[in-house]
Amino acid sequence: MDLHDTICAPATVPGTGAITVIRVSGPESFAVVDKFFRSRRGTLAGAEGYTILYGSLVDPFGEASLEDQFVDDVLVSVFRAPHSYTGEDGAEISCHASAYIATRVLSLLCKAGARLAEPGEFTRRAFVNGKMDLAQAEAVADVISSSSSAAHRIAVTQLKGGYSAELASIREALVEITSLLELELDFSEEEVEFADRSRLRSLLVSASAKVHGLSESFRLGNAIKNGVPVAIVGEPNTGKSTLLNALVGEDRAIVSDIAGTTRDSIEASMVLDGITFRFIDTAGLRESSDWVESKGIERTLKMVGAADIVLALVDPTRSPAEAQQMLASLTARLDFSSQILLVLVNKMDLNKNVKDINNFVSSVDSYGDVVLISALSGEGLDELRSTLVRKVQQRLPGNSDAVLVTNARHHEALRHTAESLDTALRALDAGTPSDLVAQDLRAALHYLGTITGAVTTDEVLGEIFSRFCVGK
Ligand code: GDP
Repeated sequence: MDLHDTICAPATVPGTGAITVIRVSGPESFAVVDKFFRSRRGTLAGAEGYTILYGSLVDPFGEASLEDQFVDDVLVSVFRAPHSYTGEDGAEISCHASAYIATRVLSLLCKAGARLAEPGEFTRRAFVNGKMDLAQAEAVADVISSSSSAAHRIAVTQLKGGYSAELASIREALVEITSLLELELDFSEEEVEFADRSRLRSLLVSASAKVHGLSESFRLGNAIKNGVPVAIVGEPNTGKSTLLNALVGEDRAIVSDIAGTTRDSIEASMVLDGITFRFIDTAGLRESSDWVESKGIERTLKMVGAADIVLALVDPTRSPAEAQQMLASLTARLDFSSQILLVLVNKMDLNKNVKDINNFVSSVDSYGDVVLISALSGEGLDELRSTLVRKVQQRLPGNSDAVLVTNARHHEALRHTAESLDTALRALDAGTPSDLVAQDLRAALHYLGTITGAVTTDEVLGEIFSRFCVGK
C-alpha cells in the first residue's frame, strides 16, 4: 500500500444525517481540492491550518452543462502537516448528506488526483507518521465503538496514552536489566559479576508482576468492553427465561411451563449504571437424575465457565435438597478468584405457599450471596440489578486512569512477555549465564514491542487496520 499519495473517503455515513464529511489526506490534498473548490476567501493552498473556508464545489471535468457543474455549497476545514490527525496535509469537506452528492464529491476527488482510502488508512498513516502508537491507534476503534461509559473510559485512557506509558515504563526496566547483563558479558573473560544479582532480581520481579497484572486485567477489561457475561442457570422451570425477559424488558426468551423449552442459550445485553451486561439464559436441564451428567448441562457448564457472574436460580416451592445439589455441582466448577455466584431464590410471590422460607434460604446461603426475587412480579429485581453493578464496580480499579487490557492481541502478547520473563527469572535463579538470561529478556522486549507497534510487520498492520471502517 502506498502511504504517500493523497487519499479520500467519507468520514460519516452519507444519507443518515444533515451533513456528510469527506476527508482528504496526503501531500496533494490542497492542490486536489483546489481544482474544483471555488471560494471568495481564496484557495486551500493559500489558507492557514485550522481554518474553514466556505465555498462551492463545481465540476470542471467532463461534459456537464453549466448548471450541472454546480455540485454543492460546502465548508472545507484545512489541516496543515504535521498538525492533523494523519500528520499530513489534509482537508475535510462538509457537504450536504446525500449519497448522490457524496459519490459526486468522491468522484471529483479521484478525477483530481486522489484515490479512495482503504479501511483504517487514515489511522494507519497517523501511526506511520508517529502521531500515535499502535495501541493508541487500536483505541481509536474502541472509542468509536464504545457503547457504555465504562468501556468509553478504558478506551479513552488507552487513546490518551495511559496504557502506552505503562508499557513504556515496563520496557525501560527490561532494557535496564538487559544492559546490565550485557555489560557483564563484555567482561566475561575476566569472570567478573558486575550486576548485583539481588538488584537485578528485584527489578525483574517487579517488571514481571506488572506484566502479569496487565495480562490478568484482560478478563475484566474484555468484559467491560464487550459486556460482562452473566450466565443464568438452574433446573428447568425455576424461571430462567422469565428472569431474562424481566431484566431486559422484552420477550427475548420463550417462557413456557413445559420443562426444557429453552433449547439453546439466549442472549440479551443491557447497560446498567454505565456497565454493559450480557445475560445468557442457558439451556435448562433435561430429564436426568444426575445434574452434571445430563447433556444440556454440558453446554450450560461451558457457558458457566465463560461467565464472570453466575445467577443460580432456585425455586423455594421445591425441595431444598434439589437446590443444594445443583449449587454444590455448580460451586465445584467455579473459579471464585474471577467468578461471582449469586443465588436467586425466585418465585417469592408464592412465598405464602412455602412453609419455611427462612429455612430454605439458610439451606442455600452458604453457596453465595442470596437475593430474593420474583421474576414474574418484578419483586427484588432492583436489588438484583444494583447487586450486579456493585459486584462489577468492586472489581474495577479505584483509580479512574488505571489501565485495563481490552484487546485480545495485546493479551496474547502480554502472555508471551510474562512467559519469557518467568523463564528469565528461573534462569537467573539457577545461575544460568548472563547471555542466556539476556536472550529471554530480549524475547520479552520483542513481545512487548508488538503491542505499541515498535516491532511490527506489514501483515500485522494490514490485519489490524483492515478491521477499521473506511474513512477512519
Ligand atoms: P425456565 O425453564 O427456568 O426458563 O423457566 P421459565 O422462565 O420458562 O418459567 C417456568 C414457569 O415458572 C412459567 O410458567 C413461569 O411463568 C413461572 N415463573 C417464573 N418465574 C416466576 C415467579 O417469580 N413467580 C411465579 N409465580 N411463577 C414464575
